[in-house]
Amino acid sequence: MTKRQKVTLKIINPANGELLKEMPEDSPADIAKEAQAARKAQPGWASKPISERIAILQKFRELVVLKGEALALTLTDEVGKPITQSRNEIRGLLARLDFFLQNTASELAEETVFSDQGMTEKIQHEPLGLVANISAWNYPYFVGSNVFVPALLAGNAVLYKPSEFATLTGLHIADLLYEAGVPEEIFHPIVGGGAAGAALLEQDIDGVFFTGSNSTGKKVAEAVSRRMIKIQLELGGKDPAYVCDDVDIHHAAVSLADGAFYNTGQSCCSVERIYVHSKIHEPFLEAFTAEVKGYPVGNPRDEKTYIGAITRPAQLETLQRQADDALAQGAKLHCGGKRMPGPGFFFEPTAFSNVNHKMELMREESFGPIIGIQEVSGDEEAVALMKDTVYGLTAGVYAKDQARAERLLARVDAGSAYWNCCDRVSPRLPWSGRKGSGAGTVLSHYGIKAFTKPKAWHLKQPV
Ligand code: NAD
Repeated sequence: MTKRQKVTLKIINPANGELLKEMPEDSPADIAKEAQAARKAQPGWASKPISERIAILQKFRELVVLKGEALALTLTDEVGKPITQSRNEIRGLLARLDFFLQNTASELAEETVFSDQGMTEKIQHEPLGLVANISAWNYPYFVGSNVFVPALLAGNAVLYKPSEFATLTGLHIADLLYEAGVPEEIFHPIVGGGAAGAALLEQDIDGVFFTGSNSTGKKVAEAVSRRMIKIQLELGGKDPAYVCDDVDIHHAAVSLADGAFYNTGQSCCSVERIYVHSKIHEPFLEAFTAEVKGYPVGNPRDEKTYIGAITRPAQLETLQRQADDALAQGAKLHCGGKRMPGPGFFFEPTAFSNVNHKMELMREESFGPIIGIQEVSGDEEAVALMKDTVYGLTAGVYAKDQARAERLLARVDAGSAYWNCCDRVSPRLPWSGRKGSGAGTVLSHYGIKAFTKPKAWHLKQPV
């Protein structure tokens, strides 16, 4: 290949295998040029009053409302997400935007923390400068906006690399931001896969905000490890839930099936392991399986579809391997268990019981419509199993008694704890992974300040 030839990115609809679009990937030289332009433009953006940046992002919100249905359709075609769930994601984006639009100015206002006749101490929140936002495809509007919205509001320039599986959505976001008034040098999308992400990390950036898998997260951390720049990693999980003996069984089963299978199980906080008290194990399994068997699978554009396509075809192998390994080790299959015939990439909604932690299904992230349900003797065994993981994103307990649930969840090292709910993210609460699920925090007031560096002012009056 000559220096001038570019790699072509093929964008495929995972629900039918059809080519949606082809486009050239950004080369390292393109990315270097964008980084230099962004670096040059950033001080001008930061010097605007924050009210101007808020007004621009408010306009972006209006455009998202105006074009919401077209955005949802692109998302559905590009990642295979059922259309009703794509619309939910757009609605969720609006709620995140509202949180940031309402809270950023007060959160970043200068704070005087001490003052007497001779001395004043104040804190100023300065933007980091130029940040890289490397993103996943499964909730591109959520995981992207958690970063680029507060980053832009705080006065940063952003080089945004959407996943190669959500490129069209990433380009829509850029177009809407430009239409709203964000200068092109201040927010720039980088088209491409891992090589483009790696080239982005070589630029003179002040921070990297990454959402993706644990294995890529490690590569990102290694790539910037010798530079003193801010790094945040939002990674995968193996999120557990424990169902106590005193719950409304039907309600818990329906809620947990939704938590495990919504977005076709392709959520960082999907329920990935369920532990059920032996007193209710059998009726819970029955209710859970009945619910899952009722999920319509198929064309993501169909309003009735609940289980859509598997976005990354390679994930089908992981799902099949986990299902086969569980069966070989004695798991009991209640429904599903295999890839569906094409066209497109689909996996049957799959539920196993009689599972244990020797099985990959109960240890490694599945990221698809598959779940293991394990019977436990009581609270102590459930907590021990919930803790038996390299990940730490979320954990849940279904129980009548809040104190019991809080006592158990306090012992699990996870960034989010759920009582009688699951697979839930709130813009008002910090979102963070522990252990193999990452480092750093988005959303809430933590996720606003994350895009700034504090300057401590010590101001002494002259004598
Ligand atoms: P991935 O790790 O394959 O890719 C993520 C991003 O990294 C993509 O944009 C990709 O192009 C880029 N990339 C790949 N190699 C790179 C390299 N060497 N240097 C720099 N960038 C590189 O993950 P994915 O399949 O896009 O997303 C699924 C994963 O993301 C799951 O593990 C899921 O749990 C996780 N996730 C976590 C959260 C969270 O908030 N914790 C949210 C959504 C998804």
